[in-house]
Amino acid sequence: MCGIVGIVGGQKASSVMVDALKRLEYRGYDSAGVATLIDGAIHRRRAEGKLCNLVDKLKSDPLVGGLGIGHTRWATHGAPTECNAHPHEAGGVAVVHNGIIENFLSLREELQANGHKFETETDTEVVAHMASHLIKAGKTPREAVQEVLSKLEGAFALAMIFEGHEDLIIAARRGSPLAIGLGDGQSYLGSDAFALAPMTNKVIYLEDGDWVELNAQKVTVYDGQNKVVNRDVTITTASASLVDKGNHRHFMAKEIFEQPEVIAHTFGAYVDPINLSVSMSELPFDLKTVPKITIVACGTAFYSGLVAKYWFEQIARVP
Ligand code: GLU
Repeated sequence: MCGIVGIVGGQKASSVMVDALKRLEYRGYDSAGVATLIDGAIHRRRAEGKLCNLVDKLKSDPLVGGLGIGHTRWATHGAPTECNAHPHEAGGVAVVHNGIIENFLSLREELQANGHKFETETDTEVVAHMASHLIKAGKTPREAVQEVLSKLEGAFALAMIFEGHEDLIIAARRGSPLAIGLGDGQSYLGSDAFALAPMTNKVIYLEDGDWVELNAQKVTVYDGQNKVVNRDVTITTASASLVDKGNHRHFMAKEIFEQPEVIAHTFGAYVDPINLSVSMSELPFDLKTVPKITIVACGTAFYSGLVAKYWFEQIARVP
C-alpha cells in the first residue's frame, strides 16, 4: 500500500503534492518523491525514509513546476532506498504506482532484450520503459498508455507524466483506489479523497479498470474497453481537518479523543432519536439468518476484529 497524488494546472505543484502526501502518509512511509515538468523536461526529488526527509530535500533543493506526480512508498519490490523511491523515470516518462505488477519480470526481460537499462529493483519501472518505448515508436501518450495497460497484470493505481506535455497526466486504476479531483482550472488525483480535501470537494471515484486523462480544464475518463464514459461527480465531505493532527501530539491521540464522535456518527444512521429506536433495515441481508461470520484484517483492524468477534459471539451468539 502506498499513496499517489498528481496535479495539473497549478503553480507550485511540489508544495501542493507534499501537503497531499502528508495526508496519505498513513498508507506508506519508507520513502517518498515528487516529479514535475519544467520547460517540458522531467525533474525529480526523492528521499529515503519519512516524508520529512523529502521536505528537507525540497527546502535545500526546491522544485518548481505546475504539473507533477508524487508518491509515498511502502515497498513491495526492492529495498526502501532513494533509488527505488518513486517517481520512476525512463525515456521522458515518469510514473508513480500503488500496487504490484505481477508480470514485471517477463516485461522487463523483453525490454532489456530491446536495449532498455533498468536502474531500480521495483516492479514499477517497467511501466515507464514500456510507455517511453511506444512513444519513441511514434505513439501518442494516450495510445502508449492504452497499450501498456493491456499488457499489465496485477493490482495497481498509476499516474504518469510525459516530457513535453505540460498539460497532461494519465492515470489508471485496477484493484487499487484512485480519486480524481476537479478544481477551478486545475485537476488532481489522489489515492483517496482526503488527500485532495484542501484543494477540492468535487471528486470522481474511478471504477475498476478505468483510466483517465487529466488536463487543467478537463478530465476524460475511459473504461476498461477504452470507451469514453461519464462517471458521477461526488461532492465529498472529506475535510482536511479530519486528516491533520489538530492540536494532538500524534494521530493515535487524535483517534482516541475522536472515538465518541466517530461512534456517534457511525451509529447515527441506524438510530431514530425521536422514537428512541434502532433500525438496521438498510442491511442487505437479515443478520438473524447468518450462521457464521469470518473477519479478515491486519494491523489495528485486526484488534477491532477481535472485539467484534467477542461481541458477535457473546451478544449475538453467532460463531
Ligand atoms: N510495488 C511498488 C514498489 O515496491 C509500489 C509499492 C507501493 O504500493 O508502495 O515500489
